[in-house]
Amino acid sequence: MRFPEFWAPSPHFASTPRHERRGVCFHHSVLGFSETIAHMQEPESRVSYHLLIAPDGARARLVSEEHVAWHAGVSVFQGREGCNAFLLGVAFAGDTYAAPLTEAQIESALEWLEARWAERGWSLGWITDHRQIAPGRKDDLAPAEWTRLRAAIAARFGAPDR
Ligand SMILES: [Zn+2]
Repeated sequence: MRFPEFWAPSPHFASTPRHERRGVCFHHSVLGFSETIAHMQEPESRVSYHLLIAPDGARARLVSEEHVAWHAGVSVFQGREGCNAFLLGVAFAGDTYAAPLTEAQIESALEWLEARWAERGWSLGWITDHRQIAPGRKDDLAPAEWTRLRAAIAARFGAPDR
């Protein structure tokens, strides 16, 4: 692996039922990398992503992918409510309205996806962001950055829209 990855466990998840891992919802955290980890480890916050990606591409794993992390809230995707049950939550540290994703963040996300894409049977149609599954309530990612990320994923995995 090109980018370092480490555990920073968050208590904000449910162990049952097991996570379905049908696809991925991308977020931005607004806060910086270490601030976001600290927030997700606070007992009161009741939120966590599965994975957080720093501007330099380093990845913090917060919740096991077998568990349902609390990242999406009220949400709908592919006609189904409660996206936490079936979409993993991956966040980029920072605010994509204030600064674009770094190349390292995108490369790191691709590296993480690559390790799972075929095994999980993922396709572009099952990759989304928080803005699209909670419209009017959440605005991450910035549309231009979502377009950039999606193009990079499409280029890497060569998947047509499905
Ligand atoms: Zn979000």
